[in-house]
Amino acid sequence: MRPKELSRYLADLGWRDPLALPIEVPKTAAVLDGDQSAESTDLDGLATSLRDCARCRLSEKRKTVVFGEGAPDARIMFIGEGPGAEEDRTGRPFVGQAGQLLDRIIVAMGFQRGQTYIANVVKCRPPGNRDPKDDEIAACSGFLDRQIEFIRPDVIVALGRFAANRLTGTDKPLGALRGRWSHYKGVPLLATYHPAYLLRTPADKRKVWDDLKLVVGKLAE
Ligand code: URA
Repeated sequence: MRPKELSRYLADLGWRDPLALPIEVPKTAAVLDGDQSAESTDLDGLATSLRDCARCRLSEKRKTVVFGEGAPDARIMFIGEGPGAEEDRTGRPFVGQAGQLLDRIIVAMGFQRGQTYIANVVKCRPPGNRDPKDDEIAACSGFLDRQIEFIRPDVIVALGRFAANRLTGTDKPLGALRGRWSHYKGVPLLATYHPAYLLRTPADKRKVWDDLKLVVGKLAE
């Protein structure tokens, strides 16, 4: 029997080649649903699999899925909460006022926005900018995890309490999480205040700068 015929014959019997199996498939609701996030082999494929996403109720009111953007080999990955109105309109993360502040922060760190990767915990705008609900986060969770796996950044920066809680698996306030290293999927993770918070509380810019100096230092190691 030729090798192709043999593998077809074995597949008919239910045998699966262990070497062809994915090495690490995150056990998320999305993946367990037989979702394409597990099958995509790169960021573009993953983005395509999300384009018409209707896995949760956020799809009903959103205009655009905001997948994330940046360098596929970025050393820094910023993760926020979810798209706002401007992001929903344009399909790009962090382009409103908070995004413009983030751009300035990135430049102050010695990078350009396009050298980093920017994404959110949920990819669709929660109506009225409310906090995303647990089932909405679960529906998006596999996609964020796959983005991190594809990019493999040297550092993840969680922007704000919501992303920090999701990525550290705690419900501690940001004040207790910021400025100290933890890990997510083996990647060093640092949480800091969300730029939208800084727009309301500019006095805390100093704290963010202290946190981000740790990030710059880690990248220089
Ligand atoms: N706030 C976020 O958390 N993400 C965005 O993309 C924009 C604002």
